[in-house]
Amino acid sequence: MPTYPPPTVEFVRGEGSRLWDSEGNEYLDMLSGLAVTSLGHSHPAVADALAAQSRRLLHVSNLFATEHNVAVARMLDGLLGGGGQVFFANSGAEANEAAIKLARRFGGRGRHVVVSAFGSFHGRTLATLHATGQPAKHEAFQPLPEGFRHVTWADPEDLERNLDDSVAAVLLEAVQGEGGVNPAPVEYLRTVRELCDERGILLMFDEVQTGLGRCGRWFAHQHAGVRPDVVTMAKALGNGVPIGACWARAEVASVFEPGDHATTFGGQPLAASAARAVLEVMQAEDVPLRAARAGEYLRERLSATPGVSGVRGMGLLLGVELDPALGAVAATVVGDLLAGRHGSRVVANAVTPTAIRLAPSLLVSDAEMDEAVSALAAALAARPGAVG
Ligand SMILES: *Cc1c(COP(=O)(O)O)cnc(C)c1O
Repeated sequence: MPTYPPPTVEFVRGEGSRLWDSEGNEYLDMLSGLAVTSLGHSHPAVADALAAQSRRLLHVSNLFATEHNVAVARMLDGLLGGGGQVFFANSGAEANEAAIKLARRFGGRGRHVVVSAFGSFHGRTLATLHATGQPAKHEAFQPLPEGFRHVTWADPEDLERNLDDSVAAVLLEAVQGEGGVNPAPVEYLRTVRELCDERGILLMFDEVQTGLGRCGRWFAHQHAGVRPDVVTMAKALGNGVPIGACWARAEVASVFEPGDHATTFGGQPLAASAARAVLEVMQAEDVPLRAARAGEYLRERLSATPGVSGVRGMGLLLGVELDPALGAVAATVVGDLLAGRHGSRVVANAVTPTAIRLAPSLLVSDAEMDEAVSALAAALAARPGAVG
């Protein structure tokens, strides 16, 4: 169905930070399938785990215990500081649906509102679409499920005004991804924690894009040192195999009873075997540290590039703001990079009309980042209005 514009490239193979299309052209992947392939393409440990599991056991349903999902839940719980429980889903939107249902069950009747921020992105199902603070995306699908409210991003006073007795939870990204790569100030996140504590409201972080090392910590909210009640994740968890997870503190998770929520596929053996391999490699490679270091390097190189007016983000989730003199050319530049019009072919994404999002593999090399920055510099220098 025409839910995406017609694609111009068909990819047939990937290895590390490289992709190849059906005509044999090579690309440098600086997008990772939207922050998904954080270990690069065709990672051998993930490939081996999938191949072995596909010959051992694919699916039996969640009526039975299986090998990998308990191990994955324990690892995630450890990365989040312990004391929690995990529900597995198949995507980010589904992980957030679980969080929203958990918040409603926790708050009880009449205390069911989920407050989220304008400019946020939480998914495309009807409930997560309403949690998504982008009213233009809502219009065609009204009426949306009731019980969502939006506040100004990073404005503690507006949040406080909106926390009445009907609110069960606050749902936030620590860095808004789809909204343009906007990091929340750490003081804001600490204030949100205090406001929620005073009122017995759950603080839920949507770490679907920012989690699992991407932002230079295991989870982006950890930069602020706040302890969340609920954390959702998905994108990088399977390195391309669909799997999502909703973690909650045990006292919160315990409000769910058998029958309250369920999934046929969530946490099934194939996806869980991939997630287990991903987390093992991520820990062995210390990907948060690698993302922090590589992110600093990439940010410096980008900031020194003519045509770039600013770089925002954390770790290896970066938004590259283009010089206003060039106009709203992010999509054009991304098209030029993909076609290799001025150098190497590079995969990136126009996250706003004037900003390009970069989210390379967390194992990206300095040479690969240099190559991407050179291609971007050449593409920007070729724009009408470019200085020098
Ligand atoms: C991508 C994303 C989602 C939705 O994930 P899907 O797997 O596409 O459903 C939700 N929240 C955030 C922050 C995301 O970046």
